[in-house]
Amino acid sequence: MRTGFIGLGNMGAPMAGNLAAAGHEVFGFDPADVSAEGITRVGAVADAVDGMDAVITMLPDGGALDAVYAEIVPRGKVGTLFVDCSTVDIDSATAAHRGATAAGLLAVDAPVSGGVRGAGAGTLTFMVGGTREAFERAEPLLKLMGERIVHCGEGGAGQAAKLCNNMLLGISMIGTCEAFALGEKLGLEADRLFEVLSTSSGSCWSVNTYCPVPGVGPRSPADDGYAAGFAAALMLKDLRLGQGAAERVGAATPMGLKASALYERLVDREGGDKDFSAMLPLLSASARGQLED
Ligand code: NAD
Repeated sequence: MRTGFIGLGNMGAPMAGNLAAAGHEVFGFDPADVSAEGITRVGAVADAVDGMDAVITMLPDGGALDAVYAEIVPRGKVGTLFVDCSTVDIDSATAAHRGATAAGLLAVDAPVSGGVRGAGAGTLTFMVGGTREAFERAEPLLKLMGERIVHCGEGGAGQAAKLCNNMLLGISMIGTCEAFALGEKLGLEADRLFEVLSTSSGSCWSVNTYCPVPGVGPRSPADDGYAAGFAAALMLKDLRLGQGAAERVGAATPMGLKASALYERLVDREGGDKDFSAMLPLLSASARGQLED
């Protein structure tokens, strides 16, 4: 299969590499000076569309998706599969989906969970929105880059699921950090508290798999000075997208709103490059009343 891949950043490059390793002819485009192994780099976006069986995009935001789709949708051959793996707002995702479908393309939104490590290892989870026919065409391709491929519903449903997941993740990470920061001030040893939380009703991914306390639990970014696995700036982006979606449908998400405000504080203070579990040092260093407003 000939596959175009547009957006070869931290996620896109290893995903494209996995497709190439599985035998796809991959033609990758990115305007930036990025490195991507195993694929053919092309100098114009058109060369990642013309003659392709599938075109995958992995872009930073809805603005980039709108701009790229305006260019590539008119070039796509009827029946070509268009897969957008970027995390974007639902409006951009549904507009991209609508435009591509109207042009006779098979379109899915397929944002991912699993981060740069999952992209490299080919273990991503894909949350897919689109028709059954488009999903069935996309699934074998996505299986080469991921482990779990979930059909969430019609176009835009993949983004909706992604925003719900990441809102929950942001909230659960803050809750986890609060528990450890309070525990420390109550005189508890972090490793004792970890043993309790990870085997009790407070257990969750943020405690058990990605513990924010250095030296406690499985290896995580906390053990590496909070060097990003999943950057705080990306968490803030996703929480804001979640709040935008909640506003649009009038959903009550008080914890999501608070999580967004707290990640804004963290990004203001640390610059956004640190891992999102660096919420723990912020909470530990704060006195009661400083973050409660
Ligand atoms: P990135 O910034 O490393 O890569 C984005 C790439 O898109 C860049 O190389 C940029 O040059 C390119 N790009 C921008 N505008 C373009 C255009 N008009 N045409 C072609 N290429 C263009 O970002 P990333 O970490 O690879 O993330 C990509 C997407 O995946 C984002 O939507 C992000 O929210 C999502 N995501 C990231 C992670 C993660 O851990 N990094 C995890 C899950 C989802």
